[in-house]
Amino acid sequence: MRDTLVLNASFEPLSTVTLNRAVVLVLQSKAVVEQAHPELRMRGAAIDIPVPRVIRLCRYVRVPFRRRAPWSRRGVLVRDQFRCAYCGKRATTVDHVVPRSRGGADSWLNTVASCAEDNHRKADRTPEQAGMPLLREPFEPTPADAMLLSLGAGGVEALPDWLSQGAAA
Ligand SMILES: [Zn+2]
Repeated sequence: MRDTLVLNASFEPLSTVTLNRAVVLVLQSKAVVEQAHPELRMRGAAIDIPVPRVIRLCRYVRVPFRRRAPWSRRGVLVRDQFRCAYCGKRATTVDHVVPRSRGGADSWLNTVASCAEDNHRKADRTPEQAGMPLLREPFEPTPADAMLLSLGAGGVEALPDWLSQGAAA
């Protein structure tokens, strides 16, 4: 997946996001394309846009000078794009990989998005004990990532399937 550079409204570089997230920001009118790939376009029934290499946010965002993004349940769901870490279906709950009853923390690395069924099935066990391997490892977003997530850049689920397949020449 190509990464797209994100500039603040003031043109300062902020971060990079995946192409999908860049397109979502543009489609949601939260960013404009500053520099596009010379040949590639993304096409669909109602959409025909150049593949962005650099986008610029329409509104200036203040990036906190924090080393770490604050953990939140909502943040975990957005980070994981509302996909269950165990089955890949739509997630509405946050699961503690190491359960809280066993000392598991409310932290980015110990929490994943989960569908209610899997959360209930896993219950008070680790993934190993439950025989439910994680489809992906949880990670800690950078503060800039968290800021972009809070803008809705994580809303990849809003992308139609054909567009999330990537760029078409
Ligand atoms: Zn699930």
